[in-house]
Amino acid sequence: DVPASDAVKALINKGMMIPASAQVDDSVLSVLSEVYELDLEWSDDSPEVVEDAPLKTFKKPILRGENLKPRAPIVTVMGHVDHGKTTLLDTIRNTNITAREAGGITQHIGASRVHHEGKDIVFLDTPGHAAFTSMRARGAQCTDIAILVVAADDGVMPQTMEAISHAKAAGVPIIVAVNKMDKPAANPDRVKQQLSDHGLIPEDWGGDTIMVHVSAKSGENIDQLLEMILLVAEMEELKADPTVSPEGVVIEAELDKGKGAVATVLVQQGTLKKGDIILMESSWGKIRAMINASGKQLKSAGPSTAVEILGLSDVPQPGERFIKVDAEKEARDSISAKDQKRREVANQMSPRMTLEELYSKMQDGATPTVNLLIKCDVQGSVEALVGSLNKMVTDEVGINVVHTGVGGLSESDIMLASASDAIVIGFNVRPDNNAKKMAEKEHVQIRLYRVIYDVIDDIKAAMEGMLAPDV
Ligand code: GDP
Repeated sequence: DVPASDAVKALINKGMMIPASAQVDDSVLSVLSEVYELDLEWSDDSPEVVEDAPLKTFKKPILRGENLKPRAPIVTVMGHVDHGKTTLLDTIRNTNITAREAGGITQHIGASRVHHEGKDIVFLDTPGHAAFTSMRARGAQCTDIAILVVAADDGVMPQTMEAISHAKAAGVPIIVAVNKMDKPAANPDRVKQQLSDHGLIPEDWGGDTIMVHVSAKSGENIDQLLEMILLVAEMEELKADPTVSPEGVVIEAELDKGKGAVATVLVQQGTLKKGDIILMESSWGKIRAMINASGKQLKSAGPSTAVEILGLSDVPQPGERFIKVDAEKEARDSISAKDQKRREVANQMSPRMTLEELYSKMQDGATPTVNLLIKCDVQGSVEALVGSLNKMVTDEVGINVVHTGVGGLSESDIMLASASDAIVIGFNVRPDNNAKKMAEKEHVQIRLYRVIYDVIDDIKAAMEGMLAPDV
């Protein structure tokens, strides 16, 4: 009977960062029962217990429900650059997609569903372990099987090894696609030897790693690769209950000029329906429309279905989980409680500053920190900017990025910036009217840019005291 925000605070005090919407397991319940002096009792329909679950896995849905049904596997393609990840995905999509049915127009929503021998496989469209791991860093894991593409003429390369580590760290089974077998220089035995050295021993050498010789270009053995995916999926016993309350994860999100905030979500359990009210970490919404990869409007989406949804209050981050809530008020309250918490956390940061004031503070002999809130049009720019900024930190001045995001500048961004005395950097995005008003009221400096170098230059100049006050 305590407010969720209370429980979240109590957990933070115990060193556990767990959002109110997260599913929790025994260890969290134990901590809560201690804090609130409650007795724990397990009922028969309690969720399957995850043994030794690290904190992060809280965000992976715990299997629940009594009507567990097999579900389609979610697959990510990884591997070294130029080894054929994109080509492989294209070939698989072109030969197996069901999207063409009913005159659908294939559109990019971040995931594609292919059909093979009466079964479905869902491929996440962004290949590579960067996307995979940035989702995981946010605590979301939605990949069931990793396809490791290794070019037979090139062999194991640095990013091949990285991909292996990332998949292993996530506990995701790996299927190796030894690619470019059509090339005269293809040497699959060398690839197998190299992979064995890294702990992936092929089945025909007595190990347990499935390796398929393919050519993404000619399509050779792609069927066999799909068969192996279905085989592994069967061994993994991937299941979900379509009848429980829906939940899942955001895999892509953007601000669309016409449609507003749109997100592609992957339903992991339950069935999401048009009109449902869903709550994410930074956004909520009543689902106005759901569209699949063939551009078809759906009324409902069951487990392992990726759908683009419209009707969100804000652009969420990939990796955020969603749950269904019963009432709009519940969603709204939860978001404003979260904003409040963000502000409280941000409040403990250093005092207000503009870029122009930075230099004079430095002259005073203090070691100032520039707090920045960064919003960009695409996630790639966020990462590029933050990467460059991190390299600029010196002994004299620190840089603290309080928040990053994709999409236009909203009122809640400005509130957060105000509370944390952050300068707002908008890269290829603009503040909406409410955000503009709020910025004036709160005296928050918004700086808009179109070129990454300009951002870097301005901040460098400020750090060196070169920037003429202009805002
Ligand atoms: P990615 O960087 O891993 O996504 O690699 P791409 O799919 O972009 O492929 C890199 C290059 O390798 C492209 O020029 C492809 O046409 C080529 N390629 C990919 N798969 C094959 C294959 O099976 N055989 C041959 N000969 N070339 C391939």
